[in-house]
Amino acid sequence: MSHDTTPAPAANFIRNIIDEQNAAGKWGGRVETRFPPEPNGYLHLGHAKSIFLNFGLARDYGGVCHLRFDDTNPEKESQEYVDAILESVRWLGFDWGSNLHFASNYFDTMYACAETLIQAGHAYVDSLSADEMRAHRGTLTEAGRDSPHRSRSMEENLDLFRKMRAGEFPDGAHVLRAKIDMASPNINLRDPAIYRIKRAHHHNTGDTWCIYPMYTYAHPIEDAIEHITHSICTLEFEDQRPFYDWLLDKLADGGFFTRPLPQQIEFARLNLTYVVLSKRKLIQLVDEKHVSGWDDPRLPTLVGARRRGYTAEGFKRFTDQIGVSKSDGWIDYSVFEACQRDGLNDSALRRIAVLDPVKLIIDNYPEGQSEECFAPNHPQQPDLGKRAVPFSRELWIEREDFMETPSKGYFRLYPPRIDAAGIMQPGNSVRLRYGYVVTCTGADHDTDGTLTAVHCEYLPDTKSGTPGADSVKVKGNLHWVSAAHAYEAEIRLYDRLFSTAQPGQASGEFLDDLNTDSVQVIRAQLEPALRDAAPEDRFQFERHGYFVADRVDSKPGEPVFNRTVTLKDSWSKAEK
Ligand code: ATP
Ligand code: MG
Repeated sequence: MSHDTTPAPAANFIRNIIDEQNAAGKWGGRVETRFPPEPNGYLHLGHAKSIFLNFGLARDYGGVCHLRFDDTNPEKESQEYVDAILESVRWLGFDWGSNLHFASNYFDTMYACAETLIQAGHAYVDSLSADEMRAHRGTLTEAGRDSPHRSRSMEENLDLFRKMRAGEFPDGAHVLRAKIDMASPNINLRDPAIYRIKRAHHHNTGDTWCIYPMYTYAHPIEDAIEHITHSICTLEFEDQRPFYDWLLDKLADGGFFTRPLPQQIEFARLNLTYVVLSKRKLIQLVDEKHVSGWDDPRLPTLVGARRRGYTAEGFKRFTDQIGVSKSDGWIDYSVFEACQRDGLNDSALRRIAVLDPVKLIIDNYPEGQSEECFAPNHPQQPDLGKRAVPFSRELWIEREDFMETPSKGYFRLYPPRIDAAGIMQPGNSVRLRYGYVVTCTGADHDTDGTLTAVHCEYLPDTKSGTPGADSVKVKGNLHWVSAAHAYEAEIRLYDRLFSTAQPGQASGEFLDDLNTDSVQVIRAQLEPALRDAAPEDRFQFERHGYFVADRVDSKPGEPVFNRTVTLKDSWSKAEK
């Protein structure tokens, strides 16, 4: 008997809505969602939540999820963004099949919808200036006033709208507005603008159009054209829902769409501490060169996350864990890191790297000799086997693994010393992981006192994996790399880009909270096998954390590595 080990997806309010509708037969079981980015920037960690939600619902209900570019606003959109978005969604593991759409391909239909609204008396051309229109709109406590143009005849409206399209008016001279209710308590229903004149080159339609639909008008039509069942968006669109419903209802009356019409459902966006997820701020960070580019591993963009070494699987863990709700809140960045760490712990092979190297010289080991030690590729997954690492007389160890005068509880290397009773005590013994037990005999320093080498002697009968290896008990267990065989490489130690949980909260300027120490570039000594790492190969460097071979700067036989995440969370501790 076999059983599926995939846990059932956690219930959430959106699933409950779908389940109820399916029980009532509303859509005949159909679930059709969409992820609708505007190609005016790169995707970020917040978008990942929406991607997993929309594509995840489609997958779990046997439906489809469309990838739709909401490209109705020509000025800030570009093909570069389109390409990057496609790549990121694919990287997260999702496939839109034949459902790749561009809102701009619907401009003709949107235009036809507008004429239909005009003909039915549901839209009119207004010629007030932007300032006048604002003054007429009223406030939260005060009703708006009708524009003097609100009573234009249907014929006049149609004629003006056609002339708008034909380019007979300058930018901003007129707008087309829905005719709803200037006294509505919901300001979004006070005759919202639905078309504006704007001479701007569009990345898809070029100069075909000099009028463009407003987002709030375009989006419901896009959903209806694509037969979307559940149009899922973030909470700030809640007040727009009445207009969404009004518009599709009128267009269904006009024969454009059939019922049931798509339903807008709002959920709480992801707010994550220690990052900024606003496109405007991300663009500023890139433009002002606070980071190296959109894929800087410190940025919360998906291209940055990928380069950092985060995995799609870690994203899945994260979005599963935080769930979907209707109330806004903050998620601590450490939650995201923990999910990435857990995923990497399962999948990353173990390797050895000395990040702050100092020589360890084994004075009683023959010069010129070397031998193999065997290190497990993954301690919890023995079937992944072991690899040989060369051992020789001179090794690299971490500088911090030696102390001239040991502090209390320090079990690593320290030299012989005279104790309080005036008796000479031997230096400390440690195990060189997968190798021998060594005893510290002394250390060399240069003239200004900097440690240049540590000396020790090894115990030949203590090699790991040989009979009797454990007869000598030691407390310290150090990693090392043979100096003659090591691969010296550049490593980038990334840390958080901002040093406060909510950048800009104190001063009002998010740049004030940039972490001045968010990257440290070092040269490290790595075990020789790492020379062969391919771009995006991920490893746990023992005792240090998870690292990835950089996909941009690595050359064949010469990978450089980025630290993805440390083994333990140092930030939460520091906060407490
Ligand atoms: P803007 O509209 O200001 O350009 P945006 O972040 O809303 O920025 P879109 O490209 O419109 O960007 O977003 C695409 C989809 O991703 C939308 O459905 C949006 O609701 C969703 N989304 C954006 N930011 C988040 C977030 N922080 N958490 C969850 N979903 C998000
Ligand atoms: Mg948006």
